[in-house]
Amino acid sequence: MDDCIFCKIVKGEIPSIKIYEDKHVFAFMDINPVSEGHALVIPKIHVENLWKIPEATLSAVHSASKTIVHAMTMAMGPVSVAAVQLNGRGVNQVVMHYHLHLIPRASDGEALKLTAWEMIPGDMDAINRTGAAIAAAIEND
Ligand code: 5GP
Ligand code: ZN
Repeated sequence: MDDCIFCKIVKGEIPSIKIYEDKHVFAFMDINPVSEGHALVIPKIHVENLWKIPEATLSAVHSASKTIVHAMTMAMGPVSVAAVQLNGRGVNQVVMHYHLHLIPRASDGEALKLTAWEMIPGDMDAINRTGAAIAAAIEND
């Protein structure tokens, strides 16, 4: 897609710090890192989000992420990794080309704020109602 920044990165029209590439997948360092090592794994084809990505492409992206996380562990020492992926502007997806964020926390690194949400018990009636509505929609689809 002509005006997509990540398509331009795949084509080399915009520079990036590439860490991995195969036939279907490209991975590079995020320039606004949440933590040291923050990387993005993307399909080479332009596809907007998880709901539109073909299964084989999704599989290729996630398989590549395992290779990359193994390499992060070797390069940075033991890491735990948040794999974060946003779908839609309503949840702050900014670049509308599917991307998987790999956000590592090194064993001696700072806690990741984005994964440390407070556990607040929900309203069980509301949870039940919404769960039932979703299950019924799946059943009736
Ligand atoms: P989103 O909110 O869409 O999941 O995140 C988009 C990510 O892409 C952000 O973390 C942002 O820092 C990153 N990003 C945006 N433009 C560029 C760019 O030109 N180069 C690189 N390496 N990362 C970018
Ligand atoms: Zn694109």
